[in-house]
Amino acid sequence: MARIKLKDIRHAYTANPASDADYALKRVDHVFEDGGAYALLGPSGCGKTTLLNIISGLLRPSEGAILFDSQDVTDLATEERNIAQVFQFPVVYDTMTVYDNLAFPLRNRGVPEDEVARRVREVIAMLGLEGQARRRARGLTSDEKQKISLGRGLVRADVNAILFDEPLTVIDPHLKWQLRTQLKELHHRFGHTMVYVTHDQTEALTFADTVVVMYEGEVVQFGTPEELFERPSHTFVGYFIGSPGMNLLPARVEGRTAHLGSQTIELPGAPGALGAKRLELGIRPEFVRLGREGMPVSIRKVEDIGRKKIVHVELEGENIAAVIDEDLEVPAEPRVSFDPAHLSLYADSWRVEMEARP
Ligand code: ADP
Ligand code: MG
Repeated sequence: MARIKLKDIRHAYTANPASDADYALKRVDHVFEDGGAYALLGPSGCGKTTLLNIISGLLRPSEGAILFDSQDVTDLATEERNIAQVFQFPVVYDTMTVYDNLAFPLRNRGVPEDEVARRVREVIAMLGLEGQARRRARGLTSDEKQKISLGRGLVRADVNAILFDEPLTVIDPHLKWQLRTQLKELHHRFGHTMVYVTHDQTEALTFADTVVVMYEGEVVQFGTPEELFERPSHTFVGYFIGSPGMNLLPARVEGRTAHLGSQTIELPGAPGALGAKRLELGIRPEFVRLGREGMPVSIRKVEDIGRKKIVHVELEGENIAAVIDEDLEVPAEPRVSFDPAHLSLYADSWRVEMEARP
């Protein structure tokens, strides 16, 4: 197992990249600690697969270096990096049995047959493939084939890391939940460094200790699920994580006072110089209070979501979502206020630290 360091990585698929826009990865500089469970989360096209392939060695980055512990592996081929990678679609040998497919990565490395049998049986049991072990892969469903692909990623004990690229895409929803739970258990048991790519926030937040949120070729936040919720570094994290996402409201700021149209809001501290940047206040729907105090709003829509309800209101021409308890009555002349401890300020989409009040 290894600690993986990505040092000033940039990648362009075009020959002569001129500006940031030409880079599929603009700059990635992060460390994946040995034994950590990481998720790479972001929308389609943001660079997740590119980054994963750079870690595994399928792709050589245009700039920067990759280190496994202290060894520079930038110029090493995939096989030399000792990594297991599971792809979005099944990679199986159709003419081999399920058992032989799973044994292949071990036999390939000269693992003794009794050890092969032990590992393969363990993986077969974990994936619930006992009934199919002696069948050829050809006749299996795509769910079953993808389970074999997963199993091939998990069968070796000695890998530096296991990389998963949206591995549950073709798996049906119930099984998806089950496999994700098993991966998590496996991580606890064997402590492999795992990097799991997904565009699904639930999948990322349940699997990973650290979530790497990517947006347009950049890592916009590298943090725990709590950090992504409490202190989104970038407006993209604010609205991508959470359901509904963070409310973002265009604002003007003077000293410690933010102006939303004709309304004023006291900030928790004084932001530094903001120049001519585009400013937005960010507040998660969970921290919008709806009652008789605060700024007057009009109700747009109320959605019942079980024990909570989402109330959509309009404030100064902006839509705001508030998540409140189901049994809380919405007053006839509703007003909103924001929990100051959970108020964020963004300048050109990036979070601004506010100096705490003395
Ligand atoms: P994700 O996995 O997050 O969906 P990718 O890493 O596949 O994103 O792609 C990132 C960007 O790089 C996209 O704009 C995509 O079109 C581009 N891209 C990916 N692979 C190639 C390639 N082989 N050649 C050229 N452009 C590519
Ligand atoms: Mg991808």
